[in-house]
Amino acid sequence: MKALAWMGKNDVQMVEIPKPKIIEDRDVILRVTGSTICGSDLHLLHGAVVQLQKGDILGHEFCGRVDSMGAGVKGLKQGDRVVASFQIACGECMYCKKKLSSQCERTNSNTIENVMYGGRTAGMFGYSHFTGGFAGGQAEYVRVPYGDVNLLKLPDDVPDEKGLYLSDVLATSWNCVVDTGVKEGDVVAIWGAGPVGEMAAEMSFTNGASRVIMIDGGAASWRLDLCKEKMPKIETINYTDLPRGTTVTSKLKEMEHGGPDVALECVAGEYAKGWAHYFEMLLGIETDTSEIINEMITSVKNYGRCGITGVYVGFTNHFNIGSLMERGIRLIGNGQAPVHLYWEQLLQMIREGKTDPYKMLSHRVKIEEMDIVYKKFDAREDHMQKIFVQT
Ligand code: NAD
Ligand code: ZN
Ligand code: ZN
Repeated sequence: MKALAWMGKNDVQMVEIPKPKIIEDRDVILRVTGSTICGSDLHLLHGAVVQLQKGDILGHEFCGRVDSMGAGVKGLKQGDRVVASFQIACGECMYCKKKLSSQCERTNSNTIENVMYGGRTAGMFGYSHFTGGFAGGQAEYVRVPYGDVNLLKLPDDVPDEKGLYLSDVLATSWNCVVDTGVKEGDVVAIWGAGPVGEMAAEMSFTNGASRVIMIDGGAASWRLDLCKEKMPKIETINYTDLPRGTTVTSKLKEMEHGGPDVALECVAGEYAKGWAHYFEMLLGIETDTSEIINEMITSVKNYGRCGITGVYVGFTNHFNIGSLMERGIRLIGNGQAPVHLYWEQLLQMIREGKTDPYKMLSHRVKIEEMDIVYKKFDAREDHMQKIFVQT
């Protein structure tokens, strides 16, 4: 079968590999009909998440049809049209019972060393050996462990092109908005106008935000215009266009007295400057806008809330703990979104037209084009937002 493999830093290739087999009693083999690329795949492409091995199959957002299954799988039959969650949960452990499926105890490896280094979540499809080494769904077939837990049936009125996004991006955006407590009247600033940031903006408005200010720049500046086209109420800051002496923080304070109530990080640690920034500070060198977490802390109103959804691994940045403590700022790790907590509710929202995944969909491509699409998505070319990869 065809699959997309990681072959080294910034190198993904289409390869031919054997079709996966049932290994465990509750495995489902899924014939993939649709998948997509996520900002998280870019971290893997860049080698920014450790323990990726040459030949690893990528892809954690996919939907398809049940091809075959182990004897222990209940509630599914061959041919069922389903979407997979990006995390692999057992459905029975302490966290899974609370539907906090991204923290499943059976599929992760939360040793002290791992938590110290960067924390471990549940196993994830196509997300390197850091999360269990499970082959991903940017392929013709994929093995889904605990298939009856990690696959959700799609009703006839929800096509693949909408249902696919329940696997990650919709749950992630909703999680960051709900978990950071966006409520009626809040002014929300969002860093990163990618698919996650865009949907977080839409969902902030759904939750009653009075203003949403989107921040992005560089090669992705066009995303700000795109958000404005889709959500005329949204306001934007292009961090690469700010006049000298103006920072994202000062601009936000100028736009809203005291700053926003809520800051949502939908970018990722790999774009922050990390330790290099610390030394620059010591040397008195002017800092730039990639210091997202500190920007968030210093931008929000006193007692404001900052939620982190972009992926960070281990120790990143120095934090402005002084500002955080003195002003009562809430810094919230939103975690890998627990898809199982939200996906039924989100499916209902799609059916009722309360959220429309088509809004993010910018390109439809075939699986054979996947390697080229990765390069374009990484370079922010061709105005790629969310892609539907037909398999
Ligand atoms: P994306 O790569 O398409 O978008 C990220 C955007 O951030 C880009 O447009 C980029 O230009 C912008 N950016 C870079 N530096 C910036 C800065 N200093 N200030 C403001 N914006 C900046 O990614 P995406 O698919 O939208 O995902 C966003 C993040 O969410 C990624 O880190 C991804 O790994 C993460 N993610 C987390 C979860 C979760 O469950 N927590 C799930 C999915 C994705
Ligand atoms: Zn993802
Ligand atoms: Zn579990």
